[in-house]
Amino acid sequence: MSVWDDLVGQEPAVAVLRKAVEGAAAVLRGERGPAVAGMTHAWLITGPPGSGRSNAGRAFAAALQCKNNGCGECNECRTALSGAHPDVSLIRTELLSIRVSEVRELVRRAAMSPTQGRWQVMVVEDADRLTEQAADALLKSIEEPSPRTVWVLCAPTVEDVVPTIRSRCRLLVLRTPPVAAVAEMLSRTLDIGQDLAWFAARAAQGHIGRARALARDEAVRERRNKVLEVPFALRDLGACLKAAQRLVEAAKEEAKASAEKVDEKERAALEQALGVGTKGARPREANAALKELEEQQKARAKRWERDVLDRSLVDLMALYRDVLVVQTGAGSELINAELQRNIEQLGSRTTPEQTVRRIDAIAMCRDAIEANVAPLVALEAMTVGLFEGRSDGFTIPRRPQR
Ligand SMILES: [Zn+2]
Repeated sequence: MSVWDDLVGQEPAVAVLRKAVEGAAAVLRGERGPAVAGMTHAWLITGPPGSGRSNAGRAFAAALQCKNNGCGECNECRTALSGAHPDVSLIRTELLSIRVSEVRELVRRAAMSPTQGRWQVMVVEDADRLTEQAADALLKSIEEPSPRTVWVLCAPTVEDVVPTIRSRCRLLVLRTPPVAAVAEMLSRTLDIGQDLAWFAARAAQGHIGRARALARDEAVRERRNKVLEVPFALRDLGACLKAAQRLVEAAKEEAKASAEKVDEKERAALEQALGVGTKGARPREANAALKELEEQQKARAKRWERDVLDRSLVDLMALYRDVLVVQTGAGSELINAELQRNIEQLGSRTTPEQTVRRIDAIAMCRDAIEANVAPLVALEAMTVGLFEGRSDGFTIPRRPQR
């Protein structure tokens, strides 16, 4: 057992981190030169959603604190992984941005010596949500860290991180985990059969969390099935509009269900922190803070809705990719092998050129939603495009420059 066990299919990245941990141990022994070469004080870990960025950050933090370079069993490893270690700060936000006030607190903590004499590790799990201002506040601490401080920033891609920050970090890129590695992990950690493990691994297309959800939860599989029925139901324009509406409504419901789970807890925690209902409370400040939270929660619910939609679109895209595989006789494995017969039928009725245009229509819809076009508008253009085999039903507004 080791702290790296949870990183599925990331052997090359793990090798780099292991070397860094060895270097860090050499630093602690007072060595210099090549022995410490693998170690750096600022890291940026990127990788596609669900590839395990924050797991990698946490495992690295644990290994730095562990006397055995990440055994996964000692107190150091366990507390670091769970976030309870006094010298490991895990910064994650469910909200849309990390604020300057939070960053100042981090900078203050980063400047302190580790209480247990090893490393002060700061893991920022959503470095892409640092506002420009927050990034500025962080910059100096990353540029000239205290000798025993290590920053580990995580983000989907380098482009998501403010340039001034990313230029000061060593970049570590995670890959999309291979299907076989994900399937192996699922059948090792969950009590499920091989068939289900392979199905979930294939369907998740490298997203570990999604793979777990598909393997464990019948309702998640059911929702996915509903999405994959769409291409077979597009008989006329009316059916297209209806399908678009259903996709949007389903996303709304799912996002709402997730929001209900956290919104109330966050509000209660904030009220308690503000001392609402107690003597020393300052109602005006409390109201302003609660209002800000409410706005953030609203914005988040909207983002979740878009995330759910995007996942549906990724599933649809995979289906048409399968159609193309069948049409071109490319011979690669189908992502939706269990739908092979339907996929072959769909493929026999249309041409590869049409399939490519349909895939384009889905890609354009994803871009449009990302660019904040009203989801229903984007989805309707897409389902009509899928029906007619065209992808020119929609022009995407230019993406705002950051
Ligand atoms: Zn350990």
